[in-house]
Amino acid sequence: MPPLLTVNKLSMDFGGIRAIDKCSLRIKQGEIVALIGPNGAGKTTFFNCLTGIYQPTAGELLWTPPNSPSRTLNGLKPHHITEQGLARTFQNIRVFRSMTVLENVMIGRHCRTTATILGAILRPPSVAREEQKTIATSFALLERVGLADVAHERADNLPYGAQRRLEIARALATDPLLLLLDEPAAGMNPQEGQELETLIRSINNDRTAVLLIEHDMQLVMRLADHIFVLEYGRLIAEGPPEAIRNDPAVIRAYLGEE
Ligand code: ATP
Repeated sequence: MPPLLTVNKLSMDFGGIRAIDKCSLRIKQGEIVALIGPNGAGKTTFFNCLTGIYQPTAGELLWTPPNSPSRTLNGLKPHHITEQGLARTFQNIRVFRSMTVLENVMIGRHCRTTATILGAILRPPSVAREEQKTIATSFALLERVGLADVAHERADNLPYGAQRRLEIARALATDPLLLLLDEPAAGMNPQEGQELETLIRSINNDRTAVLLIEHDMQLVMRLADHIFVLEYGRLIAEGPPEAIRNDPAVIRAYLGEE
C-alpha cells in the first residue's frame, strides 16, 4: 500500500532564511511518527507547509487515502486540506475561548461536513436533524477525551491540559486520516501527560495516523513507531526510537542545545 502522505524534497524560505531544506518523509496509514529537533529547527514550519498555512517554496506533498488515487496537497487552502482528511492542533492553544466546549467541537464537525450542512440549508426540515447528528457526534468525542461533563462550560474556563484535549477533540471531529499534534504535552503535568499518551494511543487504535511534534523525549520514545529528526531545517536522522536514541548526530544536536 502506498504511504498516506509522501513529502518529497520540501523546502520553505522566508526571505533569505531557509527554514526547511529539501526534507522528504513518508507516513503510512495508522502509523505514529514523531518529528523532533531543537528549538527553531523548523518543525512548526513543516506543519504549516503540510496544512496549507504556508505554500512551500519547493517540493511535493502527495496524499494517498486508502483505496484512492494519489493527489497533490500543494496549493490547497487549509480548509481544503482538512477536507482531505488531515487535521492539526497548534503549539499555542487555539480554542474559541468564549464558546462552550461542545460548540468548539461542533465547529470542527462543520469543517468536515460543509457540503452536507449546505444541503440541509436548502432543505430546511432536515437542518434540525443534521444539527442533532452534529451534537451527538461532538458529544461522543468529548466523552472520548474525558470532557463530556464540562461540555456546556466556556472553553476558557478549562484548565490548560483540558484545553489541549479539547483542541484534539475538535481536530478529531473532522474525521482525519492523519492528525498532526504540535507539542501536545507542552505545559502538562505528569498526570495530564499520562492521559494524553492514553488518548493518542486510542486515536491510533482506530488506524488514524499521528504526526507528533514533541519535546518530551520519553513520551516520543514510548509512542512513536518512527522518528524524524530536524536540525536547522534539515533532516539529520530517521528511524525507530531505539536507533534514534543512540544516533550520534541526534545526541550532538540535543546536547548542543542544552
Ligand atoms: P520550536 O521547537 O521552538 O517551536 P520549531 O522547530 O517549530 O521551533 P519553527 O518555528 O518552524 O521552528 O522555525 C524555524 C525557523 O523559521 C526559525 O528560524 C524561525 O525564526 C523561522 N520562521 C518561522 N516562521 C517564520 C515566518 N513566518 N517568517 C520568518 N521566519 C520564520
